[in-house]
Formats: sequence, C-alpha cells, structure tokens
Amino acid sequence: MAASEADAYLLESVQKGDQQAWREVIERYQGRLVSFARRMLAQRGDAEDIVQETFVGLLRSLQNYDRSRSLETYLFAILRNKLSDHFRKMQKGQRQSLEQLNVDDAPAAWLDRQTPSAYLAGREKIESQRAALVGCLRQWVEQCRTQQRFQDLMVVEMLMVLGMRNKEVAADLELSETAVAGIKFRVLEQWRKLTAALLDDDSQTEGRSHDWQEADLSQDSSVARIWQEEGASCLKRSTLGRHLLGVLDDDWNAYIDFHVNVAACDRCHANLDDLREEDARDAASLEALRERCFASSVGFLSRPPE
Ligand SMILES: [Zn+2]
Repeated sequence: MAASEADAYLLESVQKGDQQAWREVIERYQGRLVSFARRMLAQRGDAEDIVQETFVGLLRSLQNYDRSRSLETYLFAILRNKLSDHFRKMQKGQRQSLEQLNVDDAPAAWLDRQTPSAYLAGREKIESQRAALVGCLRQWVEQCRTQQRFQDLMVVEMLMVLGMRNKEVAADLELSETAVAGIKFRVLEQWRKLTAALLDDDSQTEGRSHDWQEADLSQDSSVARIWQEEGASCLKRSTLGRHLLGVLDDDWNAYIDFHVNVAACDRCHANLDDLREEDARDAASLEALRERCFASSVGFLSRPPE
C-alpha cells in the first residue's frame, strides 16, 4: 500500500473514532516531527510538547484537511505554526496557555485571510488552480528523477528556493549563462505541456490554465511559494533511508545532498535525523512519547459509533 493510501485509510478510521488508528498515525509521524522541532528548540521536552500540540491540532482541524495533500505536508505545516507561535510568545515574554495555542489550528498559509464571502467565492477556484499547479510540479519532479535529470532539478531549486540569479547558477554548476537560460526555457516548456495534459484530464479545471512565464522561476513567485509549502521536490522517506544505507548511485546522492544541505530543506533534514536516530532510540521511550501524544489528544477524537 502506498504511504498516502495508508494515511487515507488510517484517517478515515480516526474520523470514526478509532483509537488504534490514531495511535498508528502518531507512531508513524512522531519521530520526524520531534527531530524537526528539536532542530529549533534546545530542550527535548519542549520539542515533545510542541509535537503533542501538533497532533491535537491535526484532530481539531481534520475537517479542513484536504485529503489530496500529503499528511506529512499538513503535519509539518501545523508544526511550523506551533513553532512560530511558540517563538512569538517567548519574544513577548508571555506565559503560554493551551487555550491560546489552540486558537487557530489550520495552517495559516492554506487559508487566505479575506472577508468570509470573498474567501468562499474565491476558494474553490484558487484550490483547483493550486491543485493543478501542485500536480504539474510533482509530475515534473518525478520525471526528472526517473530520467536522472538532476541538474534541471537543482537549477530550479537554486532559482526558486535559494533565489540565485542566472549568473550565480551558471558559476555554481560550471555552465554558461546561455546554458542556464536554455534549461529555464526547457523547464517552462515542460511545465506548460504538463499543465495542458492535466487540464485535458480534468474537465472541471477547464480554462484555468496557468500562464507560465520566466518570472515563475524566481524566488518571490507564487509558484516558488507553492513549491516550498508543498515540498514538491522533497524526497520519499524510503529514498532517504536508501541514501543513508549508501545504496543509491552518485547522482542521486549528490542531488539529495544538495536538496537537504544546500537548499536547506528542513523537512528532509528532519526525516534524515529521525532515520539516523531510529536505531539508537529505545522502544520504551518511543512508546512513552506515543502514549503521551495519545493521552493529550484522544479527547479530541470523535466518539466511536455505538
Ligand atoms: Zn525536502
């Protein structure tokens, strides 16, 4: 079963109040979330507290969670919100209260702050446009990986994630600026074709094609924001595991190293840390963390059917 199918199945059970399914969700994601939080918080206890709140946040906002998106992306978005709340409160020198922390559990970036009516009217359209863009970007990343076109992927991340200019990309990859311009041109062509193909497949999004332009490949574009928020180029956990085992070829390893360390992907970094620590952690402490997360969130689980 693919990870996303397994997640969808688990969440369906969770929504029906299945406590065992909820334990499994926690167990599956607690490690990578704690690793992520630990990179920003000195105390392990603080990191674990925030992860507990993240699971509560997931249950409380389960209604808003769009199942076509990956659960990992959603959990990391909640965790990021919790972390920024945490730092904001520390700055203000206020004591945290659980009530305050739980005021807004849905990741802010996913809900445009507009007046309610404009928001509702625009939401469906924005959502479907966005879904088409995400689909296009993901397919493209998959194609690059299958065809081992890692240089194209790196160029895109250098431009959109690191905000580098053509000249800097060229110097870094020892290419001419013309070659970089050629890659950009080719990438945009590929995105155009993928978007057109996706729109053909989905009559609902008809006429809502994105007009791809060179500006989309810059750091301040909405495409770049979506690329980062969705982790469009993030690696599968199984791929990161194979990377650690040293069974991938050099091109793959170089690309993963670039994505994690140069493009500084927090999320893949956290997954790698978690995988590295997995063997070292004892079963008892993992179980203790799972039970703590479970105990603090189970009250938000809906009642099981009679
Ligand atoms: Zn990543």
